[in-house]
Amino acid sequence: MVHLFRMLVVTIGLSLLTVATAAPTFPTHELMGGKPFGHSVKSIGDGLYVFRWWVYRNIFLVTDEGVIVTDPMNPKAAKLLRSEIRKITDKPVKYVVYSHNHHDHISGGNIFKEEGAKFVGHKNVLKELGDHPSPVTPLPDITFEDSYTLKLGSRTLELTYFGPNHGESLVVMRLPKEKILFIVDIVTPRRVAFRAMPDFWPDEWIRSLKEIEQMDFDYVISGHGPENEPAIDLASVVAEQRVYLEDLMIAVKKAMDSGTHSPDALRKTVKLPKYENWRYYKEWLPMNIERIWAYYHMGW
Ligand SMILES: [Zn+2]
Repeated sequence: MVHLFRMLVVTIGLSLLTVATAAPTFPTHELMGGKPFGHSVKSIGDGLYVFRWWVYRNIFLVTDEGVIVTDPMNPKAAKLLRSEIRKITDKPVKYVVYSHNHHDHISGGNIFKEEGAKFVGHKNVLKELGDHPSPVTPLPDITFEDSYTLKLGSRTLELTYFGPNHGESLVVMRLPKEKILFIVDIVTPRRVAFRAMPDFWPDEWIRSLKEIEQMDFDYVISGHGPENEPAIDLASVVAEQRVYLEDLMIAVKKAMDSGTHSPDALRKTVKLPKYENWRYYKEWLPMNIERIWAYYHMGW
């Protein structure tokens, strides 16, 4: 009996040691779920939810004083998002936070404006929406330059600007207590870069990811992902995204240095077999390659 007890103590002690030194465990391993062209909601825990509409995602945070919503996406998705939030709480939406200026992520916020929500975004969102207005995209009420800390109830959401990378207004959102980042467009796990990388500045993108890697976080929720991808990923997806871009730039530069200058030839000959299993490898890699060709060819 004494022997058994001692074994138990040793086993429990060992497992406690494992917990103390192991990488963070996921709050949930679950996929987003739902129909490919539908919507779904996944609870991460403690009032934090991921909302998916098609391949777009946002987070919303339910606090005891109201709800913080991010990127309303478009009028149709925003309406679905509003009804999903109502299933969870009857508290009002107090804030809508914009990740950046692109209409495909931040349209449809009117319904939250009508219930009195304040809109938050980087100061360049105001400029961009001034130049390219949309009747379904309220302008931010609160803007900032480098960082902003939004507090509601007992919860905190930190917003940080890393300079130009994808447009000039993209902010990374961090839940400091939970060590979770919400990152839109510049980190999409296990997928090559989006098509011909519209409004992406390759070198600034890599620089921003290196700076983001220095932040204190364990998890990443991405602004994109279909129903069969997890709701939340480990922090390592940021470095994986950066290494992909570095590998892409090195491969294109190498081919150009050895005499291939036609973008059509580069699209056909440059391969990155390490990423064959990433989504859209076949379809979008040639477009990624042409974007990097333009960067080296035109210096931009
Ligand atoms: Zn975008």
